[in-house]
Amino acid sequence: MFLGAHESIAGNIHKSIDRALDDNCESMQIFVKNANRWKGKKLPEKEIDQFVQGLSTLGKDKVCAHSSYLINMASSKNDIRSKSFLAMEDELGRCDKLTIPYFVVHPGAHTGAGETAGLNNIVSMIDDLYNKNNFECIILLETTSGTGTNLGYDLNQLSYIIDNSVYPGKLGICLDSCHMYAAGYDLKNDYENVINETFDRFGKKIKVIHLNDTKYDFATKKDRHEFIGKGYLGKEFFEKVINDYRFENVLGILETPENEDCTYKKQLAYLKNLRS
Ligand SMILES: [Zn+2]
Repeated sequence: MFLGAHESIAGNIHKSIDRALDDNCESMQIFVKNANRWKGKKLPEKEIDQFVQGLSTLGKDKVCAHSSYLINMASSKNDIRSKSFLAMEDELGRCDKLTIPYFVVHPGAHTGAGETAGLNNIVSMIDDLYNKNNFECIILLETTSGTGTNLGYDLNQLSYIIDNSVYPGKLGICLDSCHMYAAGYDLKNDYENVINETFDRFGKKIKVIHLNDTKYDFATKKDRHEFIGKGYLGKEFFEKVINDYRFENVLGILETPENEDCTYKKQLAYLKNLRS
C-alpha cells in the first residue's frame, strides 16, 4: 500500500505536493477546487505546469482527486442535476490537465426518489459525462456509511452502477474503512470475509482506500472520522489492512489531519511502524 493523505491546496495547487512530501506521504489526495462551491476559479497554466512537474517526485499514479461536496449525481431534481453535471465536467477536466488519473466521488443521495431511481440517475450522469467528453481520468465510486438517503453503503449498489453503465472501464472503487464499518461491513471482527468479498467483486478496480478510524460503533450509519488507532476500528485492523498483499498497489489515504498543525506526520509514522 502506498500510504498518503488528503492534502490542502491552499495558496497554490502545487503546494499540496510540498505538504505531502513534508508529511512523508507515498501517495496523495486533493480537491481540485474549493470543495464547498459549485464553481471554482480557473487554474492558471503556470500552476498546472508546476503541479505536473512536481508530481514526478511522488509519481502521477500515486495521486487522486476527491470531488467537491455539493455534487449529487443521484438527484432527480433538474437544477441539482445540471449543476452536478457541470461541476463533474469541470473537475474531471481539471484532473486531466493536472494528469490525475482517479477522481473519487460519493455516489449521491436520492433524497426521496427511491434507491433504484437514484442509482439510475447516477448511471445516466456517468454515461452522459463520458459520452460528451473524452476524459482520461476515471471515476472511483466511494463506499459510504448510509446516512440519510445516501447510496453506496451496500456493495451491490456500486456493482449496479458499474454493471449498468456503458463505460465500466471508466469506473473504479474507493473504499473507506470508517464508512464500511458504519454501513455494517465488520472490518474489525470479520476482516477476511469482508475483504475477500470486496476483492472477489471488484478486484483491480479498487484503486484507493480511505484509512479512517471511526468515532461510532459498528453499523451505526454515522460518518465521523477518528484518528488512526484511536477509534472503534483500532490498531489491529490497520495493521492487517496495510500489510494485506491485495492492497499492494492501492493508495491508502488518511483524511483526518492532526489538530494542532494540520499535518499527518504522526499518523503516517504510526502506520509505517505497523509494516511487517
Ligand atoms: Zn469521500
